[in-house]
Amino acid sequence: MHPLEPGRQASMTLALDALDQLVRFTELLPKAPADGTRLREDEGSWVAPPEQPRDHRRVLDDIFAAAEIAVETAGPTYMGYVPGGGLVSAAVADLVADGLNRYTGMARFAPALVAMEESVLSWLGQVFGLPASGGGLTTTGGSMANLTAVVAARESHLGEEFGKGTIYLTAATHRSVAKAARVAGVARDRVRTVPTTDDLHMDVAAAAEMIHRDRSVGLTPFLLVGTAGTTDTGAVDPLAELGELARAEGLWFHADGAYGGFFQLTERGRQRLAGIELADSITLDPHKGMFLPYGTGVLLVRDRSALQAAFAADGNYLQDVAEEAALPDYASLGPELSREFRGLRLWLPLQLHGVAAFREALDEKLDLALQAHRELDDDPRLEVPWAPELSTVAFRLRDEGPDGARTKALLERVNATNRVFLSSTRIGDHHHIRLCILSHRTHAAHVSEAIEIIRSQVHHP
Ligand SMILES: *Cc1c(COP(=O)(O)O)cnc(C)c1O
Repeated sequence: MHPLEPGRQASMTLALDALDQLVRFTELLPKAPADGTRLREDEGSWVAPPEQPRDHRRVLDDIFAAAEIAVETAGPTYMGYVPGGGLVSAAVADLVADGLNRYTGMARFAPALVAMEESVLSWLGQVFGLPASGGGLTTTGGSMANLTAVVAARESHLGEEFGKGTIYLTAATHRSVAKAARVAGVARDRVRTVPTTDDLHMDVAAAAEMIHRDRSVGLTPFLLVGTAGTTDTGAVDPLAELGELARAEGLWFHADGAYGGFFQLTERGRQRLAGIELADSITLDPHKGMFLPYGTGVLLVRDRSALQAAFAADGNYLQDVAEEAALPDYASLGPELSREFRGLRLWLPLQLHGVAAFREALDEKLDLALQAHRELDDDPRLEVPWAPELSTVAFRLRDEGPDGARTKALLERVNATNRVFLSSTRIGDHHHIRLCILSHRTHAAHVSEAIEIIRSQVHHP
């Protein structure tokens, strides 16, 4: 037996023992400490690659021990940043996809599997009302989807001479967009921060004015970025008006729905995100709104050929590969050539659980945010400035000073209970704690527990 091909018995034992530990891990999640790094602040000491094999059980134990020294991002009371949870069915999809090791960067190599991935992307295109010319690409996350969109917009609207191109976003736009602009070669002083209105939405009139002013001094406005649910508060920019503005001014309209996009599966979400169908490109993060494991983003585009124009590349070593007519070569739609069969971690959970399960889970999150808002707002010691548009509630201590010191200290006390994990942000002049409810494992009792902890920690000697 070749040591790297250990055969049926050893492979089965390894996989089943790993799965056994994994299932036990998920069963224990409700009781797990919210932040394991509070219990153990070192990062352990792990065996360097040994010359000879180690026992697989010891190695698995090492992995699960290391995983304990972590913020419990998979647990039901993780409400910091943007949670997602991680479906076990998607982990099984990864195991199968990696075991098959099919090449899906070009349709020619595995057309049926590419068609499988494409079936999910075209379903998403329909969910967002994109036309038949539309297409998509799975990425490793929202940052890569935003980068791909910025490059496509730049190529489509500016071509080779893009030094004068300007981008419009707000202070609440995710930082990955500014990062994408930098990677795409757009200078920092070409990125405009459009003011927001009191409800934290992009001020459309101000955006129009800035676009006109830039054009009058010889610059070339090319990209307008609206956020379909900001990371801070879940505020949804006025997408319909932004779409119309972009169309009237000849700009590419990108909607960043990394956090909020999947609420489109719900009736309330569709109302909030109205206008997103006007976008030239939409970023989604299935590792947030579809509860998949980290490493799953999606970019949808109104016109697949715009991605092709930006990313198709040939090389002498690719001369044997002819384009399939019907199916896309994902390698020609984005920066990556070789990739794992990423589509399976979307396709399998959707097939196994059905779309309704996702729709209902997302609808539940909208209800939970209303619950959180109501319960926090009932406490006169807290200031809860915005009703949730999606599933995030931001709050601060009433009569807080400009440094936000008391609110910061409250967050530290709340997280020190190790029963819940929250994070904070700065909105305007104020420091806010935010509660982002998005894991499929988070239900009403977990939200109540979080609120109870917050309220019990407000008063402190
Ligand atoms: C999370 C997020 C991103 C970045 O996505 P990653 O998957 O973390 O790279 C971009 N935009 C918004 C609105 C987000 O919430």
